[in-house]
Amino acid sequence: MTYLLPFDLTRRMLSEYGLPLARTACTKDPNEVRWQFAQMRKPVVLKASGGGIVHKTEKGLVFLSITCREQLDDCIRQIRSRAGGDYAFLLQEQATGAELIIGGKRDPSFGPVILFGTGGIYAELLDDVSVRPAPISRKDALQMLSETHARRCSSGFRGMFMNKAKMAGLLQRASRFIVEQKGVAEFDFNPVIASEAGALIVDARVVMF
Ligand code: ADP
Ligand code: MG
Repeated sequence: MTYLLPFDLTRRMLSEYGLPLARTACTKDPNEVRWQFAQMRKPVVLKASGGGIVHKTEKGLVFLSITCREQLDDCIRQIRSRAGGDYAFLLQEQATGAELIIGGKRDPSFGPVILFGTGGIYAELLDDVSVRPAPISRKDALQMLSETHARRCSSGFRGMFMNKAKMAGLLQRASRFIVEQKGVAEFDFNPVIASEAGALIVDARVVMF
């Protein structure tokens, strides 16, 4: 049996490996959401997490580009009416840039593998990925970045820019994560949003044995 790691533990594991998550507040209390909203850089994103929710967008549980209290209150209401079960609100600073995916799994015959590619909601549709046995060297990481269409972002594409050095570092640390954390069956960070400054994980799914 496998299970999805709850957000707070996921956050802790990512931080141990220097895997950068966008600033996120996780709470069940709508008033805490409102308080956190006041502290964050706008725009922000509101989502629901937990309660067996996997594909948040499909369930209408991702609200982007929130800039004011009225909008926030409306999104809280919509989540309350749509999300069943034991969920929490995730309030997150909105990132801009190229949407990439980093994933990993423990393959029964190949052992741990690491994946990089074009991410976001089209990740499965495009299937534009590069895969290696983990762990990977820096050279491997840089090679993986150049093997998918995402490489076009490293020289700037329609305002999107991938910082190759930082993305390679992130990919290496993610490969170490799947090698060392033997309780992890698979994970994906989809998307990782890359910009000139670096990269931020905005959605992390970690499946445990
Ligand atoms: P899910 O994959 O479960 O539907 P995500 O958290 O990945 O939920 O959100 C869906 C999409 O919304 C992402 O692919 C991305 O395009 C956008 N998104 C979510 N969070 C952010 C964020 N913090 N900044 C920018 N875009 C975001
Ligand atoms: Mg996602």
